Amino acid sequence: MSEIAHERQSGFFTVWTAINKTNRCYSTCVLRFYNTLTKKVDGFKPLRPREVTIYSCGPTVYNYPHIGNLRRYISDDILVRFLKLQGFRVKRVVNITDVGHLTQDDIERGEDKMLVAARREGKSPLAIAEHYTKAFIEDGQQLQFVEPDRYAKATDHIKEMLDLIQKLIEKGHAYEKNGSVYFDVGSFPAYGALSGNTLEHLREQVRADLKAEAFEEKKAPEDFALWKKAEPEHLLQWPSPWGQGYPGWHIECAAMIIKHLGSTIDIHTAGEDNIFPHNEDEIAEASSITGKRLANYWLHTRHLFVDGEKMAKSKGSFLRLTDLAKKNIHPMAFRYLVLGAHFSAHLNFTWPAMQAAQEGWQRIQEVAQLLRETQNNSSADKANTALTGTLQEMRLRFTEALEDNLNTPKALAIVSELVTLANTTIRGKAALADSAALLETLLFFDEALGLLPVATETELDAKKKTALIQQLKKRAALRAEKKFSESDAVREELLAEGFEIQDVPQGVRWAKKTSGQRGVIDANELK
Ligand SMILES: [Zn+2]
Repeated sequence: MSEIAHERQSGFFTVWTAINKTNRCYSTCVLRFYNTLTKKVDGFKPLRPREVTIYSCGPTVYNYPHIGNLRRYISDDILVRFLKLQGFRVKRVVNITDVGHLTQDDIERGEDKMLVAARREGKSPLAIAEHYTKAFIEDGQQLQFVEPDRYAKATDHIKEMLDLIQKLIEKGHAYEKNGSVYFDVGSFPAYGALSGNTLEHLREQVRADLKAEAFEEKKAPEDFALWKKAEPEHLLQWPSPWGQGYPGWHIECAAMIIKHLGSTIDIHTAGEDNIFPHNEDEIAEASSITGKRLANYWLHTRHLFVDGEKMAKSKGSFLRLTDLAKKNIHPMAFRYLVLGAHFSAHLNFTWPAMQAAQEGWQRIQEVAQLLRETQNNSSADKANTALTGTLQEMRLRFTEALEDNLNTPKALAIVSELVTLANTTIRGKAALADSAALLETLLFFDEALGLLPVATETELDAKKKTALIQQLKKRAALRAEKKFSESDAVREELLAEGFEIQDVPQGVRWAKKTSGQRGVIDANELK
């Protein structure tokens, strides 16, 4: 009998199933992603068991995030949530680009988007960076993003960038000219592996695109700046072995990845517009030094269009969450809209589609509320076995949908099925056990999708959390001493207080059934 069939028959199907499936992944790779590097869907094999390192190219903080930017980070959030649900410990760094030379053209012109914003608003670059970093984080909170382990600011890593540039010069991959340092693309044979822009291809393109004077300093037109000499009036500049200057954009990410996550990471995420030149150049810089692959999996989210047109900050015509709020659209309804399209497909935003998404999202909200109320009003009863079987099968299909390259549209369709089933069941005078099972399934789905606004409810108040940690610590200590009957007694005490607990690789997962509150206490907190 297959493992899945056995789980169905035995009726044992909880969060643990997902974790058990992760175990299977090491041999059969159940979890798989479309990898821009290999141009195919690859089975996911993490570098270390049960741990995933992720680096996400973050915002350049010179303006407010628009909904196209936010779509990108919603994809990242689903990835993080699903990996956690699968039992992985996720270590993730998001960078904040606060010195903003974005493209080769910007650098050639000495144009810094941070400086343009500073001039526009009459503020210092530091004030601009602080203001828009805060705006980015606040939008993330409204969309219930799982916080990364670290937001890494580019300007805090100038020393690391200088070290990398120095090493690149020593190894013959970079050269200095008139106070600027350039990467010698011809010195890195694997150039173009991510984007397909090989050296030959590039040489033709660059010749056609760039004016001759723009690259007279460089040995070859395709070479790109690692460090650029600053004129005295340039606001953002730092001392370097080659005189006063400022870093190129790509070296920022290469330096922060190596410093915080190591020479090779599991997953690198970015928007599709970052594939070339940014991500390609990050690879060239980092791999030239380490001799290793920078990231094993590259996940790129495609663009969001508005009424069929590409939205861009540079056009000054972009929609923010506040623009949606003016039309009474909840941020989580936007999240729902985004999940309705696959991350590797373009998403076309229209107001009718947004309205429909808001209605879909409200149906989930209402049914969650109804299930909670039904539980409070029902008397204890035994569970309907047919319903239990259906819910198990739905969980399985849901997990399989996300394992398959994070297929959120499919996962969302299963949530809709559950909503319909819950409405029918409640109307048919549901037993307490039925509504509890329905709610538990909905909350399981929501751990991955994050659609229910639980930000205020999820967290226990500090006092209750401290008490919970104390009891879990006591239990962990008893288990360490192999006093299992006493440790089980602690579990029973917790159950009496309404807490269900499960040991998971990253610590202890807890859920308070009556309120829907849930979370994980990290193993480090229990030592
Ligand atoms: Zn980056």
